[in-house]
Amino acid sequence: MFTFGSKAACQAFVFNNDEVERVESYKYLGFEFRATKNLAHGVSQLVSAAKQATHSMNRRCALLPISDPELRCKLFHSLVLPILSYASEVWGVDEKIGDAAELLHRQFLKHILGVRDSTANVIVLAELGRFPLCFHWWQQILRYHNCINNLHDDERLIKCAFVEGMHDPAHLFCSHKVHNWLQGQSVDLSVEDDLDVSTVIGNAKNHYAQTWHQSNLSSVARYQPLQPEYVLAPYLSAAKGFKSRKLISRFRCGCHGLHVDTGRLLLLAQQVPREQRHCVFCASGSEKDEHHFVFDCPAYCAIRNRFTNIFWGPAPTLSSCFTLHDPIARFLRECFEHRNTLVAAQTGHNL
Ligand SMILES: [Zn+2]
Repeated sequence: MFTFGSKAACQAFVFNNDEVERVESYKYLGFEFRATKNLAHGVSQLVSAAKQATHSMNRRCALLPISDPELRCKLFHSLVLPILSYASEVWGVDEKIGDAAELLHRQFLKHILGVRDSTANVIVLAELGRFPLCFHWWQQILRYHNCINNLHDDERLIKCAFVEGMHDPAHLFCSHKVHNWLQGQSVDLSVEDDLDVSTVIGNAKNHYAQTWHQSNLSSVARYQPLQPEYVLAPYLSAAKGFKSRKLISRFRCGCHGLHVDTGRLLLLAQQVPREQRHCVFCASGSEKDEHHFVFDCPAYCAIRNRFTNIFWGPAPTLSSCFTLHDPIARFLRECFEHRNTLVAAQTGHNL
């Protein structure tokens, strides 16, 4: 016998004068439940299996070689996501339980972009046009909801629980969560009608795509003009070579090592206020951010003069520069190499 909670909280269960053994864990259809933990225990096991699948996939991609980010995301969707979504119809209603799975997904995306783990999650997802996994789990949950709704046997226990949950959602945890989520999407739920799952999930994703940038992180505010549409950034398919692509990814995602980036990584006591993170290679007094680095800093003027095609036009912007994938990668490489030389001259240390 298996129940949630401590042993003391449950009376002995007797069958044919024998006390039924109480077990601490029970695996049902491949998903393990533990008495003293919530469903997160089973999800942690799914995440462990998914990590192994991700490592195997990455090794195989390195051998073949497959480096195209879009193709690798499709492989993740086919080979790893089914593991991370197993039984999500049950546990997915509580999005916190899926946190470890979301983390694995984001780590995979950061790995294929070549950015640091500390890079803002919303930026990484937006750069690849990906959505948090919870949208996939809600899709599974709503499809399951329709399946149960269409059961003809009204005596089946699951159908009885479903109907009771529909009439009194506060009474059942799962129904309560489904109702709350659908209300958040402005969807009215009735017992009789099936949900139009693809429309509900499509609308939820559209809403996320329109609001992802409402973050208080300055890095997100700087990044947003570079990604006007919530799709895979075009350079990820077009840039030649992994190194060039990684250089562009790191720069766009604010993971480039400029003062505006490194200043926030210091310990709190050593952090320089953002407005005081001035460029140390010129006397302009400008903030050392991406725009100053690409367009204004006189330290890179000679390099800029050799890449006139990047800065062509009446009002070039960072966004317009990044439409020229290979020239901007070469420009950034030369600028960073020159910057390393300047830093070495200032500090006396080679980078
Ligand atoms: Zn400067």
